Amino acid sequence: MEDREVELRTAFYWRCEDCGFDNFDLPHKLDLDEGQLEDAYRDMNDIEDFQELPADWRNFEVCQIPAKVTCEQCGSTFLAVDDTNEIDDL
Ligand SMILES: [Zn+2]
Repeated sequence: MEDREVELRTAFYWRCEDCGFDNFDLPHKLDLDEGQLEDAYRDMNDIEDFQELPADWRNFEVCQIPAKVTCEQCGSTFLAVDDTNEIDDL
């Protein structure tokens, strides 16, 4: 049987406090114009304004955690808390 491929994507993992179910939520891609995207890329990669960007920088995406998450098993809803601050200063 031939090996098939699947693309792995980043997801947020959280455990429901009500029922203990392990949930996975996909990040929300931010809709930024090119200037904002470039600023974010430079910021995250420590590239100064006068330095050239790599050819493939436009493949870069800025993602955001969902504001609220709902447990797939019991339906409880929680506010999502982010413990990173990578995108706070956009
Ligand atoms: Zn639950």
